[in-house]
Formats: sequence, structure tokens, C-alpha cells
Amino acid sequence: MPFSDVQDFKDARRGLLAALPDPAIIKNSDGAPVWDLSVYSFLGTSEADDAPDTVNPSLWRMAKLNMLHGLFEVVDGIYQARGYDLSVMSIIRTDSGYIVIDPLVSAETAGAVWKQLVSPKLGDKPIVAVIYTHSHVDHYGGVRGLVQQSDIDAGKVKILAPADFTEAAVGENIIAGNAMSRRASYMYGNLLPRGATGQVDGGLGKSTSTGTVGLALPTDWATETGQKINIDGVELQVIMAPNSEAPSEFMFYLPKFKAFCAAEDACHTLHNLYTLRGAKVRDGLLWSKYLQQTLDLYGDQIEVLFTSHHWPTWGNGQVVTHLKKQRDMFRFLHDQVMRMANSGMTPKEIGEVIRLPQALATTWACRSYYGTVYHDAVAQYNLRLGFFDGVPATLHQLPPTDAGARYVDFMGGADNVLRRARESFARGDYRWVAEVVNHVVFADANNVPAKQLLADTYEQLGYQAESGPWRNFYLTGARELRQGVQKLPTPNTASADTIKAMPIEMFFDFLGVRLNGDRAAGKTVSINLELTDTRQKYNVGVENSAIHYSKDRTLPGADVSIVTTRADLNDVMLGASTMEKQVIEGKAKLTGDPKKMAEFVGMLDTFDFWFNIVTA
Ligand SMILES: [Zn+2]
Repeated sequence: MPFSDVQDFKDARRGLLAALPDPAIIKNSDGAPVWDLSVYSFLGTSEADDAPDTVNPSLWRMAKLNMLHGLFEVVDGIYQARGYDLSVMSIIRTDSGYIVIDPLVSAETAGAVWKQLVSPKLGDKPIVAVIYTHSHVDHYGGVRGLVQQSDIDAGKVKILAPADFTEAAVGENIIAGNAMSRRASYMYGNLLPRGATGQVDGGLGKSTSTGTVGLALPTDWATETGQKINIDGVELQVIMAPNSEAPSEFMFYLPKFKAFCAAEDACHTLHNLYTLRGAKVRDGLLWSKYLQQTLDLYGDQIEVLFTSHHWPTWGNGQVVTHLKKQRDMFRFLHDQVMRMANSGMTPKEIGEVIRLPQALATTWACRSYYGTVYHDAVAQYNLRLGFFDGVPATLHQLPPTDAGARYVDFMGGADNVLRRARESFARGDYRWVAEVVNHVVFADANNVPAKQLLADTYEQLGYQAESGPWRNFYLTGARELRQGVQKLPTPNTASADTIKAMPIEMFFDFLGVRLNGDRAAGKTVSINLELTDTRQKYNVGVENSAIHYSKDRTLPGADVSIVTTRADLNDVMLGASTMEKQVIEGKAKLTGDPKKMAEFVGMLDTFDFWFNIVTA
């Protein structure tokens, strides 16, 4: 890689107006840090290729770029706060105030940036609009630190979001929320110490802040490509990008500034076509087409391109080159994977041989800091062909513990496997060691030497990884093999705002996911629910161990009928109260057989966040 090319460092430093004093720390109202760059002082400030042996040099370089923090001028009238959360907040000056694009993850980081940098440096003027470019929490979570709901209600602040934003924002973290959050704790390295043998970077930014997440609902919508939206003298020209990096996403051109906001679709990394925390696979073909559309519509006009992670790209020539390379990277991955699949290759075979063309592979912005060529390629196979590779032997494989025990037995017992594996380890054959020793660990979670060897192996794989998420996954796996699962305070993904915004039917769907099929076996339940404040009524039933519901109807023969309000139900959904309690308090009126209600609640599972990942 061309380490002598330091243009990214120049761009990441360009236009610095002010910065929080080093080391930058942002605290919550209790004085606890929610953002702390001091833990990364080990990275140093050199732009040279000086990575320690335990960090991939390319990731080490990105880790230093993501340390460059401050309030920066992009062009006169557009500014960015970078290095104060996983994501970047952009600010546009309007006739009478500011538009904020993507207000970080937490209210604390967004608020600190505004109070300590934006107001003093750019002038204390009102925020007239907040734009969410897409439905991921690092692009809306901090909104409550910037604007009051009363100002939104009074029409003083617009909240502009792409079509289907709310469903997507709420939905992604509900149905699979517990598994996704637990896996995210691996992906972002939240459980790891910072350091040259620990977490060094997230790939998109240092990590996520740990403050208060909120969600102010949109008041205005971007719905179609070509749409022009005027906010206080600033015109936005919309390009919709649904199901690219997020299910709901849009980009826009700002003719007044000859600037293009590419949301999260053209960052300085190969992005995820699949995210290791788990989510639906993303479509590289669609993603590539949105970038082509950008070039077609504005390629000859854009003078600066900015995104909601990393630093901007200046100059029409550089912008066009960047957009073309991002376009081609996603298209290449999609098309070449499908070419190989159509030639009969299976996902692991494809992942093993696929390489970006030289021109992309030697471009820093196309390196695997967040997505990787390997897992993005496997994901594109999965997008079109699903989990099965077509080989009958892989159709109905034994689960890990059963397979593990038999492998170990066939391979001459655990001691023999470990002896051979240590030889492979000494040769640096780490992927193979991980595969065989994982069988020993899944056969016997109490085999300490096996867990130590597997942890050593994961560490080596982590040290080699260019991708922040890969490194974090391996190193967190190693840590949990050595120490077991450390139950830390559980991050709360369901904020009151999110629950309030959740469509009631999504709540029923989530109850369905919690329904324990065995406990529900042979039972039927029928519940009428009437919400007086939102004027909704439903019949919710359980039959054949599955939930079902009907909208706008209650059934005369239901076991139980509940009349309550959505506002009170929100407390039940948040876990702050129970339906029984609310009946006693008179907030909910229950008629029929209360035992049937208790029976239904008894069928619901409560998920444990700290499930095992690296052992059975
Ligand atoms: Zn993001």
C-alpha cells in the first residue's frame, strides 16, 4: 500500500476551526465519560507507517486518521464535527440558522459539540432543521441533545428523513434486537480494553459513544429522486438510495455549495454488504447504481463530496474518481460473485479467490476497514442464493457440539488434536487451527488448554485483520474464551423514544418472537385490545404455538378484553410496568378471564443478552 500518499491526512485536517481540548472527553450529567479519546493516546500522531506487530498497518493508519477531531469547514457555509462519535455531524448555514445532518449517536456528544464548538465558533443561531440521511442509530440517536420536541411541534424545527425511515429505524433493532446487540458488542470491541493488543478503531470511526439515545420523529420526507426541498434558503436535490447501506437512505446535492452529501454510500472504506452484528444482506448492485445516478446527475458539478463517516473529498476530479471507484467496487463484488456462482463455485471458494482489481485494491478508500472483500463476497452469494451452497453434505450438518465430539474422536482424541494444532500454530496456519480447535472447544467447554490455544489463535487472526470489526470479533472471542462471559451493564437499545415510535403491529410481531413454542403447545388464547387514545383495536390470538392478529376488530368470544391507552402500553413495552400492575392501578381495564392473560404472559420468553458465542 502507498503509505507515502498522505492525502487522506491532509483532507482529514483541512479546514480545522476549533477542537475540544486534547484529550477530548465528553461526559454525561453524572460526570461519567460517554466519549473518551484519551484511551487512544497509544496511537501517537505520526503519519508514518509505524504500526506495532499486533495491528494491521492499514488499520493502524485508519485508526490515526479517525483520531483527527474538531469542527472543520468543508466549504464556506458547510461544516463538520468529526471525531466525537462513531459518525460525523454536518452543519449547513441557512438564511436564519443551521441545518444539522446526522446528529451523532447520543444527546451528550451532539450537545457538547454544539455548545462547545458550533455555537462559539459559527455563531449562536437556531437549528431550523435536522436531516437524518438514513435509519441507523448513529445518524439520529443524538437529536435530543440539539432540539426541543416543543420546537418541533411548534414547526420551528423540521426533521427531514427518507421515506420509510421510522419503520426501518425502529424495526432493525426489534425483531432480532437481542442477538444483534450482543453481536454488536463483539463487532465494535465495546468489551475490549483499548491498546495495541485490544481495540484500536471501529473502521468507520473510533467506536460508538455510550450516552442517551433518542428519536425525534420526522416531520418532512424525502420520497423521490429529483425532488427539490428548500429549507430556509438552502435547496437540496434528492437521490433516493433505499436498500443500499440502510433500508431507508437518501443522498442529496446542494447546488448553492456545489456539494454532495453521499450519506453513508461513499465513505473512505469498502463498506459492509453484510454487517457482522447481523442484519439483512445489502445489495451491491443497487448500491452501485445509486452512485452511477449521482455521477450522471451531478458528476460535472460536484466540487466537494462529504459523507457521515470519515472526511470530505475536494475537487471535481478527485470526487468523480472517488465516486467511480466506490461504484465499481460494489458492482465488481456483486457481479464477479454471481459470475463465479453461475460457474458453479460455492461461497467459501468464491471468498477465497476473489480480489479487487489492482486499481481499487491499492486505493486507500477501497480497503477493508469496515466491510471486507471476503465477507461482502459471501454476502452477495447469500443475497441471491441463500445459505445453502448446493453441496448435499452441507445441507443438514450436525450442530457444533455433536460435530465437535465426533471430529475429536475421529482425529485421535483432544490431546492429539491439540498437539497437531500447536504444530500448525507454530507454522502460522491460524485459520486451520481455529477450525480444528473450535471442534475441541465445542465438544468440551471445560477443556482449558484448548480454549487457551483457540484464544491465542483468535488473537493472531485479530492482529492480522485490516477490518476493525474483524479484529474486534476475534479479540472479543479470545477474551471470552480466557475469562468467560463478563456480564457488564447491558446496553439498552430500546429507548423510550424508540418504543413510542414503534407501530403497534411491530410490537405484536415482537411478542410473536418471544412466544415460546413449547410452552404454548396445545393452548389457545384470544385477547381483545382497545387503545382509546390512538383509536385502534385488535384481536390478538395464539394458536398452534404461533401468534396472529386482526386489525380493526375485536372478537365477541375472546378470553380477555383490555381497554387501555397506547401511552400506558408504552410503559409495559418498555418494561417499566406490567399489564397486571396497570390493571390494579386502573390504567388498564380488563374484562373476561384474567388467568388467560397470565397464561399468555407466561408463554413469553425474556432474552438474556449475555448468551455464549465462542463456546456451547
Ligand atoms: Zn453510520
